[in-house]
Amino acid sequence: MKVFFLDIDDCLIETSRLGKNELTALETSLIKLKVPNSSEITKEFANSFHCLYDRHQGKKLTKSDLIKLKQYMSRLKELETNIIHKFGQIKKWSREVCLYISAEKYKAKLTNRKLITASNKLWQAITNNTPFYPDAKRFLQSLIIKHQPFYLITSSDCRLQYDDKKDEFIYDPDYSRKLKLKRLEKFIKNGVPVENILIGDPSDKPSLQVFKNALQKAKKDLEQPFESIMIGDSLKNDLIPAQKAGINQLILINRNKIQINKDINEDFEEVKNFDQLTF
Ligand SMILES: [Mg+2]
Repeated sequence: MKVFFLDIDDCLIETSRLGKNELTALETSLIKLKVPNSSEITKEFANSFHCLYDRHQGKKLTKSDLIKLKQYMSRLKELETNIIHKFGQIKKWSREVCLYISAEKYKAKLTNRKLITASNKLWQAITNNTPFYPDAKRFLQSLIIKHQPFYLITSSDCRLQYDDKKDEFIYDPDYSRKLKLKRLEKFIKNGVPVENILIGDPSDKPSLQVFKNALQKAKKDLEQPFESIMIGDSLKNDLIPAQKAGINQLILINRNKIQINKDINEDFEEVKNFDQLTF
C-alpha cells in the first residue's frame, strides 16, 4: 500500500506570493491604526519578506539585499531570544516580527494590539487568495475518491505575539496552530480529515518531529506495512527531513523549474506538477 505525505504551502496552494491585494490589506490596516509612514512600512515589510523568501528558495541576492537580510536576521534573533532558548528554533517566517522590524525602521513602535490587528488583516487577505493549484486539487481529489491514505505535513505560520513590557516576542504553539488550522479550513471542506493535517507547532520543519508524528499516525491508523511517499516543493524543508524521518520515496514539485543543487545524496524524483505523477 502507498501512503502519501504532502506539503501544503506552495505545493498544493499558492501561499508565499505577497501580491498587491495582500499588501494593500496590510497598508489599509496600518492606516486605520494611525501608524505613521504606513506606506513606507508596508514596502519595507514586502522587501524584507521577499529577501527572506528568495534566499530560502535558493535565489541569488544582490549584495545590498544580503546586507539587509543579515541586519534583519540579527534583529529578529534579538526579539526572539527567549523563543530560541525555549524551543530551540527561530521563527523567521513570523509576519508579526517582520512587521515590527519594518516599523522600527521608520521609528514607529507597534504594540501587540496593533501587530495582531494588522497581521490578522494580512493573513486574511493571504487566505482569501491562496487558490489550489488545479493539478494539486485533482491529485488530492483522486486520493480522496480512491480512499488512498494521505497526510498533510505543513509548516507553522509562526504566529507570534509581542510582550509590550518585556519588548520581546512570545510563542504560544496552540495559538499559532489554531490560527493555521483556521487558514486551512478549505482543505477540511474539501474532504481532508482534520486529524490528518499535521502542523509544525511547536516543532517546525525542517525539524524531524512533525514528519515522525505523521509517520506514527499513519502506522497507528493503517496497522499494516506501507510504502511512504513525501511530496513537497522544498528539498531542505520537506524532502531531506522526510527521508531522515524514515519516509521511503521523495518527490519534488518544482513548478518554477528552479535549478536544484544536486550535490546532495538524496535520491528524489523531480516533476513540474502533480499531473506528471503516475500513480
Ligand atoms: Mg512548501
